[in-house]
Amino acid sequence: MIDLHSHSTASDGTLSPAELVVAATRAGIQTLALTDHDSIAGVDEAQREARQQGIQLVPGIELSVMWSRQPLHLVGLNIDADDSELAQALDEVLEFRTWRAQEIARKLEQHGVHDALAGARASARTHLISRSHFAHYLVEQGHARDIRQVFKRFMVKGKPGYVGGQWMSLERGIELIHQSGGVAVLAHPARYRLSRSRMRQLLGEMREMGVAAIEVVSGSHSHEENQMMALQAIDFGFSASQGSDYHGPEKPWVQLGQLPSIYYRCTPVWEAEPALNISA
Ligand code: AMP
Ligand code: MN
Ligand code: MN
Ligand code: MN
Repeated sequence: MIDLHSHSTASDGTLSPAELVVAATRAGIQTLALTDHDSIAGVDEAQREARQQGIQLVPGIELSVMWSRQPLHLVGLNIDADDSELAQALDEVLEFRTWRAQEIARKLEQHGVHDALAGARASARTHLISRSHFAHYLVEQGHARDIRQVFKRFMVKGKPGYVGGQWMSLERGIELIHQSGGVAVLAHPARYRLSRSRMRQLLGEMREMGVAAIEVVSGSHSHEENQMMALQAIDFGFSASQGSDYHGPEKPWVQLGQLPSIYYRCTPVWEAEPALNISA
């Protein structure tokens, strides 16, 4: 079993990198990519635990990027976690996230949510604050029933706790991943709610920018969305990645490694060039 998209406490996951690797091993996974949002801070710990457990850990990342005004997620697989250019770029993202967290808290305060910055910080295990950390605090404080509802009412565009992302450009994200030796993969393409023509424009542009793969099978796609993205991958000549986008046991509808096999006629990203050195 191969799972190429997962999160730990280095971003908004709830298991530590080592706990995540143990959970992946128990779930029967042979190859796991750790792809925390805008962070490689968990890779070393995950790598050590993977050696202990005898599974393969692919060092990865999920970069927040902008394609004109559209925020996108770009997974980087097999990146060099010691790359200094990448590290510096991630420091800048962290700085932006810290500023953004203050802004989110300030806006929430105006809507009667108190101490949200301290609450989000308490929910985070590193300095990286994401909307998920705010969401956990808001549920805890009774402002909404569950995480889904918090996002809907507070944390998405047009809602009181939303601050738009000034993320790096898609081109920059691709460049950072490539220059550190990684393979760039468009994460969960069906999640962006793009029209069919806009989706095809994005895929065409990404192909020209040298992106080799898209996530065809994602824990955040429906079965139909997996199939749709398989057809697009074949059409545009992308290889196909698969990942659960696991964030921890609190979201039991997403399980590590529980993915339908990549649709026939798609080339799995681990069998395509550039090589990922994954033995399926
Ligand atoms: P951020 O990177 O700070 O903008 O936070 C984005 C993260 O919030 C995503 O990676 C998801 O884990 C989570 N998220 C976004 N939208 C939703 C939603 N509608 N329901 C639950 N979690 C969400
Ligand atoms: Mn997340
Ligand atoms: Mn994502
Ligand atoms: Mn993710």
